[in-house]
Amino acid sequence: MDKSHKSPQVALLSHTRSELEQLLSDWGYSEFHASLLWTGLYRQRASKIQAISPLRSDLKDLLQERTILSLLKPVRDITSTDKETKKILYRLRDGQTLETVFMRYRDRITLCVSTQVGCAIGCVFCATGQMGFKRNLSTGEIVAQVLEAGRTGEKERLAVRNVVFMGMGEPMHNFENTMRAIEILTDDKGLGIGPRHITVSTIGLPNEIRKFAESSSPVNLAVSLHAANDEDRSVLAPINNRWPLAKLMEACMYYQRITGRRIFFEWALIAGKNDSEKNAHELGKLVSKMDAHVNLIPLNPTGGFNGHPAESESAHQFQRVLREYGLPSTIRQRKGVDINAGCGQLQVN
Ligand code: SAH
Ligand code: SF4
Repeated sequence: MDKSHKSPQVALLSHTRSELEQLLSDWGYSEFHASLLWTGLYRQRASKIQAISPLRSDLKDLLQERTILSLLKPVRDITSTDKETKKILYRLRDGQTLETVFMRYRDRITLCVSTQVGCAIGCVFCATGQMGFKRNLSTGEIVAQVLEAGRTGEKERLAVRNVVFMGMGEPMHNFENTMRAIEILTDDKGLGIGPRHITVSTIGLPNEIRKFAESSSPVNLAVSLHAANDEDRSVLAPINNRWPLAKLMEACMYYQRITGRRIFFEWALIAGKNDSEKNAHELGKLVSKMDAHVNLIPLNPTGGFNGHPAESESAHQFQRVLREYGLPSTIRQRKGVDINAGCGQLQVN
């Protein structure tokens, strides 16, 4: 056969269920065959086409020839001393690499997935921001992180219950692929991850937050604030110069009006920078009219930023002030910091 006339291989995991049905239908196979393939991919979590036994052998051969299943190759993993967090480095087909973080909570796994290699936003305290932007991940490369974790968890009888888009990258800078990955992850004939168990975290791009609201995607939204005045926020997250707080909050209000859902605000607590009572009052005033929950994340160390995490006493005092505004908050348990797997510590060469 003249290989030069072969059509390019397509990544199976980048297809939503209806797209897969279409693809197979174009090849002359009915919906029934597509559903066997879908179940093989996402229920059986087959790592090879040949392992999906109910598929007809002629279809297996075609898939083998025309599609790619495996998108990630594990290169190394490292486990925290308390054994609860594992960080996995994967190589992509073009040689780029990404990291995924696996967090164990008793009988379940929360998976922190990446949406980009690097990040263009450049928050000064974030290792991913410090490495710059390499490229967007495809839909399939996002989905594959969850599938791989499911396979690993299976060996320990742990299911991936929660998925947080808090790994490398800015999900709203890779909007389409993020949304398509969510569609695949939540498909109830496949992985069936509950939309309420998925959180998309963003630095806060107003146009994309509106689009997200209009998409009626029922997953949770987290917005990384870190400061409640423009001067401080522009230093920590320079994107604030482009999209100042007023614009961001307008978009958040719009999201809430359309969806009626609570917003999670994230705040990396940095000693002497944004952890004072005054800072807490500012935050309280900014979001107290909304249905909001604040996640306080004591700063995790990164090579390119000379800041320190807030002391536990300031974190608790910060929380007490928020309470005066009726604002619920959680001080995030730090996980995996000893292996650089905490929030904002992901970075590849
Ligand atoms: N780009 C998205 C999602 C990835 S970052 C966002 O910024 O929201 C995930 C979370 O980690 C964000 O809330 C981010 O502010 C936080 N983070 C980044 N660097 C951190 C650090 N050094 N310490 C603690 N949290 C950090
Ligand atoms: Fe990008 Fe989020 Fe890191 Fe900022 S905190 S640089 S938006 S990954």
